[in-house]
Amino acid sequence: MIYIFWAAFDPPHSGHFSIIKALLHHKNPEKIIVIPSGLRNDKSYHISDDHRKKLCEIFLWEISDERVILDLEFFSWKKEMITRDVDIYVREKYGEDGIHIFWTDVITYMESWDDEGYASWKIQKIFILRWEKSISREDIEGFWIENFEIFTESKIPDISSTEIRKIIPEYIGLKSLFAEDPKFLIPGLSKKISKYILENRLYRVIPSKKPKILVHVCCGPDVTMPIIQLRDEYDVICFWYDPNIQPREEHDKRYDAFVKICEIENIPYIKGAYDVKNFFTRIKWVEHTPEKWEKCTYCYDMRMYVSAKLASRLKIPVYTSSLNTSPKKDLEKLFKMWHKYAEKYGIEFLDIPFRKRWGFEKSVEYTREHDIYRQNYCGCIYSIREWGDSNMKKRMVG
Ligand code: SF4
Repeated sequence: MIYIFWAAFDPPHSGHFSIIKALLHHKNPEKIIVIPSGLRNDKSYHISDDHRKKLCEIFLWEISDERVILDLEFFSWKKEMITRDVDIYVREKYGEDGIHIFWTDVITYMESWDDEGYASWKIQKIFILRWEKSISREDIEGFWIENFEIFTESKIPDISSTEIRKIIPEYIGLKSLFAEDPKFLIPGLSKKISKYILENRLYRVIPSKKPKILVHVCCGPDVTMPIIQLRDEYDVICFWYDPNIQPREEHDKRYDAFVKICEIENIPYIKGAYDVKNFFTRIKWVEHTPEKWEKCTYCYDMRMYVSAKLASRLKIPVYTSSLNTSPKKDLEKLFKMWHKYAEKYGIEFLDIPFRKRWGFEKSVEYTREHDIYRQNYCGCIYSIREWGDSNMKKRMVG
């Protein structure tokens, strides 16, 4: 016997999962065909077809039973689908009649689905209990329903995609996306499905007015990830302030690469002064410390201090930096200081390590694809020397 489970799966949840598992266990069907619905008068979907397909594929992978088949036929339908279409399609494609799976809450209005009573009378159905603990034939007296069975063998969780969609925005904030703790799981969804939803930032409620964020830019390649990751949630304004880059020609070359990205992504930007004097004053006495030591801490802090000050002056409530993308920095230590600047200026610092979740690798891919200049030393004259030394060592060892 074939069972037909057609639904929106927007998203597929543990209720759907339990129904399939319970039917496999209690009914031992030859097949269960999972059919995500296409164009419907009574439904609008909350994510793109591509994402819904992907979620259904993950769902099937998790069920991992060869009797369960995913059929994506109705994604390509250009006209409205109804139960009769699904029924006829399954009979023609799979060579036999199927039993349709529904929740009990459709019983009261199934009759209205089509004029000829195709759904409520003709087709074979199995109803899964929803909300109520049990239901008898007397309970549905007065409704025009025939050819059905009520599945009572197993307890299926009382959840719906609508209820799950309501709670997803609580989990979708950037901080939980980057967190490595159990909050990462959305109740009612499997770990893999939660992960896919969070990573692709699906089902979030888009605020009517986005807050502004000032993103300090250390270089074009590194700012690609902050722009891409933040722009749905914030109005991103980039701030170029890097007097640590020498010589001037190199500074200008990097600035041009950054402007190219802003033009591609349509992001506004502000250019800060090239006040090299500020840089050399700040690193005085520590200029010969190696990369990542005091010299660099002062260098980062100079740029972030100026950025926090500017954000406050422009009444931009949040600031952050593309320095968070680079894999070379000790972010935990730096974040502490940058939070302090935020506090001083009455704003917030967004402490997101954009380098996580392959952020750095993705930025490399982006610059390759758009032919963006990537520098090969950090910035100051001391780093040119360090880069030269290590390259020289590499050549000697090689
Ligand atoms: S090595 Fe880079 S981070 Fe360190 S001081 Fe020079 S430019 Fe700044």
